[in-house]
Amino acid sequence: MVIGRFAPSPTGALHAGSLVAALASWLDVRAQGGRWLVRIEDVDTPRCLPGADQRILQQLADCGLVPDEAPTWQSQRGHLYEAALARLVDEGLAYPCACSRKDIALAQAALGRSATRGVELPYPGTCRPERGGLHGRPARAWRLHTGRLIPNQPPAQDGPAPAATHFIANSALTITWNDRRLGPQRQDVATAVGDFVLRRADGLWAYQLAVVVDDAAQGITHVVRGEDLADNTPRQILLQRALGLPTPLYLHTPLVLAADGEKLSKQNGAEAVDTRTPLQALNAAAAPLGLPPAPTGDVRGALAFWTDAWRTRLC
Ligand code: GLU
Repeated sequence: MVIGRFAPSPTGALHAGSLVAALASWLDVRAQGGRWLVRIEDVDTPRCLPGADQRILQQLADCGLVPDEAPTWQSQRGHLYEAALARLVDEGLAYPCACSRKDIALAQAALGRSATRGVELPYPGTCRPERGGLHGRPARAWRLHTGRLIPNQPPAQDGPAPAATHFIANSALTITWNDRRLGPQRQDVATAVGDFVLRRADGLWAYQLAVVVDDAAQGITHVVRGEDLADNTPRQILLQRALGLPTPLYLHTPLVLAADGEKLSKQNGAEAVDTRTPLQALNAAAAPLGLPPAPTGDVRGALAFWTDAWRTRLC
């Protein structure tokens, strides 16, 4: 059974770009006779806007995109993330970190590395247990130990979690995956990103952990989301392997650019998509997906037309 999801962060209403991802994930599921879920990713509470979740659900409903189950909120699922972190800690795959941003910058400078704008340097591993751990400082965040042994093979879709003996060395940590639109992808997570955060210094759950736990707990088989998230995928696949969870198929949709050529996002003030004229909103979202304008005047008919068009692409 195909299960897909749309997982918006309620940091604002849906904008033209997020509707593209929502429509694509809905069509992908409908074209394959599956189930479509909506998960409100409200773990980063300081960035959430009160009421944005309901607004998003209403905008989706206006466009005929109604989930097959009641939506879930990540803020109510902390116990699941807690259990996943505990498992990683038990297996020596996660460790507490006492470093502030300033500590990290100093350690990186001592290694002769300096950050270029917009690109974060990998964590230098100061608090790794084999390097003396917290050095008497209080724990702040929790990180994945990408230098420890990580399971090599993903578990069979319905098979048991891999036993600890299926572990390989760090040198083989390059994650390769095949995006349904972008084609073959690869990243060495240890050198490109390093020991990434699972639980933040402010106690909040990191997106990477929450998304991996929820995609597995909800049985998601097909992840369809915006291309801006594509470079998170190797970290998520690594975490899936560390936790013995299956890896879904991934499809990253084209981004909608603002007039200035920047990626359209809630952060740069992208306007809420006006769903009082849903067909217009949907036609605008269909175009970047390479779908022709709907030949019908109603939302239902348009969605059915695009579902058929999407199905022909699957073969
Ligand atoms: N919550 C993320 C966002 O709105 C999307 C997560 C995902 O689809 O994996 O950017």
